[in-house]
Amino acid sequence: MIDLRSDTVTKPDDEMRDAAAAAEVGDDVYGEDPTVNDLEARAAERVGKEAALYVPTGTMGNQIAARVHTERGQEVLADRKSHVVKYELGGLAQLAGLQVRMLDADPRGVPTPEQIDASYVAEDLHRPGTGLLCLENTHNARGGLAIEPEKIEAAADTAHDRDVPVHVDGARLFNAATALDVPVTDLTDPVDSVMFCLSKGLGAPVGSMLAGSEEFIERARRVRKLFGGGMRQAGIVAAPGLRALENVADLETDHENARLLADGLDEIGGLEVQGPETNIVLVDVSGLGLASEDVLERLGEDVRASAFGETTLRFCTHRCVSRDDVENAVELVAERLE
Ligand SMILES: *Cc1c(COP(=O)(O)O)cnc(C)c1O
Repeated sequence: MIDLRSDTVTKPDDEMRDAAAAAEVGDDVYGEDPTVNDLEARAAERVGKEAALYVPTGTMGNQIAARVHTERGQEVLADRKSHVVKYELGGLAQLAGLQVRMLDADPRGVPTPEQIDASYVAEDLHRPGTGLLCLENTHNARGGLAIEPEKIEAAADTAHDRDVPVHVDGARLFNAATALDVPVTDLTDPVDSVMFCLSKGLGAPVGSMLAGSEEFIERARRVRKLFGGGMRQAGIVAAPGLRALENVADLETDHENARLLADGLDEIGGLEVQGPETNIVLVDVSGLGLASEDVLERLGEDVRASAFGETTLRFCTHRCVSRDDVENAVELVAERLE
């Protein structure tokens, strides 16, 4: 089976398993797990922030950030196709008591300064006030788009002019930096906080990092406990996370494989391929006259993708699929859709 549903399906390699077995551990809720402490320090350094916090999932990282940056009842500005809006179970409302003001930030999912200005709400007797701007990089639902530093900076500066903090959902932040060939700090310097996943293309079994100022992370640590994310001997899973930080350079291979996949799929009648800029390939199947679920059924178990809308499929390359796998996947898809 060639599993292109997501880069979350990557399984830890032997080095990661060895690192887990050998990890020095302690009770992380007491701040006594040396492996977690090491991971947090290195992650903070990587993204150029004062401090970082190890969290079980990217979703929890985003939700903690929203909760720490805001007060109940405030508005959050976010693209209508962003992960925090579409795929986090309304957590912004449920966990932080926020109201989302969705922007149609086409075509790249980054609100323009004009959109931010037009959507900003000043607090008064009747209005809740805008409490947070949330950006996403790479932008998943728009096709793994690598958002340029200039765009991040323009959006963040506009928000900051209004005293609105900015969080980046950087689940695939290192994919963005790799694709743009910029230091990752170019993407994080303009914003107040950033979350990135160790458990996607970087290959760790679990875990994400939330980074920001010392003060922000201190408050985030309390909210992590509140949300049930205070883990004890977490060094066992943080150790593979430390190894995952060494895998950043391999993301380029995933991007090459995505381009190869896209070129192959684009040759198949009825398929229209978008991009790709990183490791995500969106394919419009409307030319086949079939719904995405029907196409997935035809593909069967041998090559797997995700339904990403009525007539859109998402294929995602990652470190557990090789160039050969990608070539085979294209052949299989062509065969099944004949
Ligand atoms: C995967 C993902 C998340 C959440 O990560 P989990 O660890 O699955 O909770 C957040 N944002 C984006 C853009 C993602 O792709």
